[in-house]
Amino acid sequence: MSIDADVLIVGAGPAGSAAAILLARRGVRVILVDRAKFPRDKPCGDYCDPGAVRVLEELRCLPDILAAGGVAISVMRVVAQDGTEFTAPFPNGSGVLWPRIQLDAVLIERAARAGATIVEGFRVDHAARTDDSVEIYSDRSRSMTGRLLIVADGMRSMTARRLGLYSELSGGRFTVGAYFSVSGAGPAGELHLGRGLYGGVARFASDVANVCLALPRDRLKRHTPDQAFARAVAELPRLADELAGARRLSAFRCSGPVGFRASRVTADRVLLAGDAAMQIDPMTGQGIFFALRSGTLAAETAAAALSSGDLSSNALVPYLRRRAEEFGRKLTVAKLLQHLSLRPHLTPRLVGRLRAQPNLATQLLGVTGDALDPGRILMPQYVWRLLFSPSTQRA
Ligand SMILES: Cc1cc2nc3c(=O)[nH]c(=O)nc-3n(C[C@H](O)[C@H](O)[C@H](O)COP(=O)(O)OP(=O)(O)OC[C@H]3O[C@@H](n4cnc5c(N)ncnc54)[C@H](O)[C@@H]3O)c2cc1C
Repeated sequence: MSIDADVLIVGAGPAGSAAAILLARRGVRVILVDRAKFPRDKPCGDYCDPGAVRVLEELRCLPDILAAGGVAISVMRVVAQDGTEFTAPFPNGSGVLWPRIQLDAVLIERAARAGATIVEGFRVDHAARTDDSVEIYSDRSRSMTGRLLIVADGMRSMTARRLGLYSELSGGRFTVGAYFSVSGAGPAGELHLGRGLYGGVARFASDVANVCLALPRDRLKRHTPDQAFARAVAELPRLADELAGARRLSAFRCSGPVGFRASRVTADRVLLAGDAAMQIDPMTGQGIFFALRSGTLAAETAAAALSSGDLSSNALVPYLRRRAEEFGRKLTVAKLLQHLSLRPHLTPRLVGRLRAQPNLATQLLGVTGDALDPGRILMPQYVWRLLFSPSTQRA
């Protein structure tokens, strides 16, 4: 049987393109396939956190992104249910706001420049493993064969399901968002917290903002996207003020349920990366970081396994270990915050205390921005100061 590539990668979002860039630069024969033709859009808040920006820098993609219009932000504004808010700087590095339609197009182009073969318009609807290869098929009529497969085809991964690496839905929120013409200063990143729902705002340097809401799933069952969006904004008063008089520039994009994980992220000759492996609720805006970083971790593991000649799941265990080391406590913090942030009786008090203790707010943003070790806030001193220490500034 002829082998088309050392590594086949399905999905050219941040996870797949990051893996392709790294592998191709190491001289590995890579084919990167995507069902879409680029540039393609994707429901997203368009916020790369400082951790994602660091990975983009390591991949030497950041200069292209900034030159093409990506805007850096150094602070984040968080607004609680009663209007209490804080604005805090990232402790190190900065975030970048840039529409995904452009970000992902730059990344796939960089993968091609690095030497990966790009095949657009190839929808994988079946995949199979043999003792010495992995095959992917589109419509059963086109197929490709590789020695190893990186599955990066996003949430509800078809490829993972076909390989028996079942994706488990967690019954999360649904999202609805659109671009608006707004007045006010940019660039800026904002998070508006409500009761069981929230809204993220990416204000680009121009007068355009991406406003993306995450809602309980029944809201989009009972209402059209426009209605669900309008009703939810009415529950987020500061956001409602900002959007008064704003003009919608794009159709609403809906997505969900968000938040799930695959039952396994490795098998013989297979690694899952990005949302295909695990997707968190986008409240903390870490999905692009997880996608990019898991793509580079998968690429490093794949390169080592290819040179050892052992592509069994045992040889891929370092990927599991690195994921656990790098992502484990970040996920704990993200889940904790999702739990604490949408409670009108509790959240405003916490936001007020963060406003009064800017150092704590900065550390929190550093952790949720993937720029500081989660241990910085998962320690008794931090929790004690957040909950009990006398505040130096009134909220
Ligand atoms: C509404 C919303 C807002 C978000 N906001 C943010 C944010 O502001 N910041 C942040 O960091 N994260 C955010 N996230 C999360 C972030 O979008 C994802 O975590 C990230 O896109 C995952 O990247 P990925 O490469 O794994 O998958 P994707 O970006 O989804 O890319 C998967 C690719 O696979 C292709 N594909 C799918 N199926 C097939 C198939 N069968 N065959 C071939 N190709 C296929 C698709 O065309 C796509 O190009 C948000 C998510 C949502 C839903």
